[in-house]
Amino acid sequence: MGHENNKSLSFSESVNFMVDRALTVLNIDEGISAAIKACNTTIKISFPVEINGKLEVFTGWRSVHSSHRLPAKGGIRYAPIVNEDEVEALASLMTYKCAIVDVPFGGSKGGLLIDPSRYTRDDLQRITRRFARELIRKGFLSPATNVPAPDMGTGEREMAWIADTYKHLHPEDINYSACVTGKPVAHGGIRGRTEATGRGVVYAIREFFRNADDVQAAGLKPGLGGKRIVIQGLGNVGYYAAKLLEEEDESKIIAIIERDGVLTNDEGLSIENVRQHINEHKTIKGFPDATFSENGAAGLEIECDILIPAAMEAQITKENAENIKTKLIVEAANGPVTFEADDILRNRNITILPDAYVNAGGVTVSYFEWVRNLAHIRFGRMERRHDEIRGAKMLQALETLSGKQAEDWMQKEIVYGADELDLVRSGLDDTMRNSYQQLKEVLDSNDKVSDFRTASYVVAIQKLVRSYIDIGVY
Ligand code: GLU
Repeated sequence: MGHENNKSLSFSESVNFMVDRALTVLNIDEGISAAIKACNTTIKISFPVEINGKLEVFTGWRSVHSSHRLPAKGGIRYAPIVNEDEVEALASLMTYKCAIVDVPFGGSKGGLLIDPSRYTRDDLQRITRRFARELIRKGFLSPATNVPAPDMGTGEREMAWIADTYKHLHPEDINYSACVTGKPVAHGGIRGRTEATGRGVVYAIREFFRNADDVQAAGLKPGLGGKRIVIQGLGNVGYYAAKLLEEEDESKIIAIIERDGVLTNDEGLSIENVRQHINEHKTIKGFPDATFSENGAAGLEIECDILIPAAMEAQITKENAENIKTKLIVEAANGPVTFEADDILRNRNITILPDAYVNAGGVTVSYFEWVRNLAHIRFGRMERRHDEIRGAKMLQALETLSGKQAEDWMQKEIVYGADELDLVRSGLDDTMRNSYQQLKEVLDSNDKVSDFRTASYVVAIQKLVRSYIDIGVY
């Protein structure tokens, strides 16, 4: 595990070094360790698309880290900086993530080297459809084997184009809509998928705060109300996480770090207002109810209770880890803390809830979407009215027995059948709570494990090894 030189580790080295800690704790045989860490396949695709009458060549990757379970699952990101190492690291994180939250998928990830802001909607559609065709033809996209989803720079729109491309190439595949998740609801998507990663982050934090001993060990006072939070990135993940924490948990978002700087307000920022400002002005600069500074990186060093990096990998490194002044880091992004920084932070007793657990809400709800697509029916469609009628009868019975009339809230809460969104949120909450308890069990029962990241990899690796032993390696 030693690496004493000054060269920074690559993303995948950083992930693998962290995984090594868990492999050592579990005393896993070298061969199996190597098999677990290795990425199965990575393809690189270059393809031309005509843009404004001129051919432009685009380059993309799709990596399958593990296929011990199929389909292999993971997003496709569009970004001006993507490379093979990054895609492989992210694919491996998907494997561990799925194992931790008991989502029965292998791990995969894709990336396209592109700055989407430089292209029109039509250009992006042609580029996406072409990329999808290449992936399909090479066996890297289908409901049974490899199912992409949104990631940085992609969303519902790109997923709808991908699904449509697949449908045209495979009209005989009755499950075509399950070839990708994160689709618009009108095209086979599931309610609650867009907010799922951010909401999952919040469910993870709530579960942490339900465990008084963990809260105390982190040096925090009980309760999320009034907690001072710094968030980096108000994209899809950060926006929903911050919004829920502000609106439902009454936490104070005291700083928001974005590409162009940092907004601070010790009294707390209104996430909805900041988001609106960004939508209108394409920058956080000029937001009226806060102080703005162009030094975004310094925002990570603001004193706070909870720091939530929700943007990019490698944001907390050996260069700034000593300056972080928080009690709890919640990794909403993938890989925001490097291996070296993780070491420094652990020695400083800063608690970290790790990415592979914290942001697994996205793939969890993707799993629900995939199942919904295979079932060809919306969750709750059969039972909703039935449950509602039962609720009404129950209330009637209570009224008869007690001789009193039910209050309004009882009418609303009891005479109610869950719809798809309720069920998705319930399944997500259950998943985040269960998985937290699995990590905690490792922390409580194994004295060689003292941090949540190692615990999460121990949980993942135990399940992966089990599956290697059960199905064998061939
Ligand atoms: N891109 C998301 C992630 O990093 C979601 C993956 C998925 O839903 O397949 O977890």
